[in-house]
Amino acid sequence: MKVLLIAESREGKLLNSCYELMAFAEKMAAETAMFLVGSDSALPQYGGKLYLADVSAAGEYNPDGHKQLILDVVAKEQPDMVVFSHSSYGWDLAPRVAFALQAAQISEVVDVAGSTMVVPVCNAKLRRDVAPKTAKTVVTLQAGAFGLAEVPSAAPVVEKLTSQSGGKIEFTGYEQAESGGVDLGKAKIIVSAGRGIGKPENVAMIADLAKALGGEYGASRPVVDSEWVEHNRQVGTTGQTVAPKLYVACGISGAIQHLAGMKKSEFIVAVNTDKDAPIGDVADVLVVADLKQFVPALTAKIQAL
Ligand SMILES: Cc1cc2nc3c(=O)[nH]c(=O)nc-3n(C[C@H](O)[C@H](O)[C@H](O)COP(=O)(O)OP(=O)(O)OC[C@H]3O[C@@H](n4cnc5c(N)ncnc54)[C@H](O)[C@@H]3O)c2cc1C
Repeated sequence: MKVLLIAESREGKLLNSCYELMAFAEKMAAETAMFLVGSDSALPQYGGKLYLADVSAAGEYNPDGHKQLILDVVAKEQPDMVVFSHSSYGWDLAPRVAFALQAAQISEVVDVAGSTMVVPVCNAKLRRDVAPKTAKTVVTLQAGAFGLAEVPSAAPVVEKLTSQSGGKIEFTGYEQAESGGVDLGKAKIIVSAGRGIGKPENVAMIADLAKALGGEYGASRPVVDSEWVEHNRQVGTTGQTVAPKLYVACGISGAIQHLAGMKKSEFIVAVNTDKDAPIGDVADVLVVADLKQFVPALTAKIQAL
């Protein structure tokens, strides 16, 4: 099995998702080659062959152009699988590459067993096992699902690609999302509300506990989607990635998209009525309790100190 890993760079910086792609390849016990539109000054630490297209010529965001470059590498390397991150870059490019190769595409893979890929369905409440029926497969990997490979000290063997400008899309730049004054990325303590809080009025008890601990409050996606909490407080793959000293997850089940945003926290406490909730797998302490009783009681104890 040979896989072509599609690394990414943004504004001159290599994204460390390339080490997630490498972790996936390790799990597959696959031979690898890597592709990157980037620059000589931001190469991955990688012991294999890296096909590098210079970003100044290929453009940072040019799906048509990048697709052609990838197809050229596929023609040379003949990989069985082309592997993208499930990022905005992967979402755009993977289907184009799959269509051109007439290959099966499997999106948002969270696990793998042999040729069977596991993907979440129904908002990650269920998992679906799928296997490709084509010789080549294109996959995208959910952020955080495979962890990071140990970073090798080796430098890649670089083969430079020549690219032509053009394509149907003009990339005009990035726009900073409004932070609304909250930067969860800098918070040392975060208390997050999940769907288990039950109703919007209960956000206040989460915010109170966060305040008593000297931290900020965050939320899982359903709480944000319900407009109980503003989006800049969402933790997870489509929200912020945080790594505070203490993360308190209240009424959060521990879906992979949430875990990807907080599992690097130093100490994790989860409050959940379900002792088998998946959040328990990453939590240092799992408090099996009704948060509506436990959280105000804990806040009162802390305030009394
Ligand atoms: C492409 C994509 C991107 C996503 N991005 C994100 C993201 O960035 N962030 C994110 O969070 N999710 C994200 N999701 C959604 C994710 O899959 C889950 O649906 C979501 O994280 C679940 O949120 P939750 O844990 O709050 O709710 P649920 O999964 O419904 O869990 C609620 C938990 O509360 C517990 N509970 C219920 N009542 C109580 C109580 N009284 N006291 C204590 N515990 C109680 C339950 O036992 C349960 O474990 C994404 C999904 C997709 C498909």
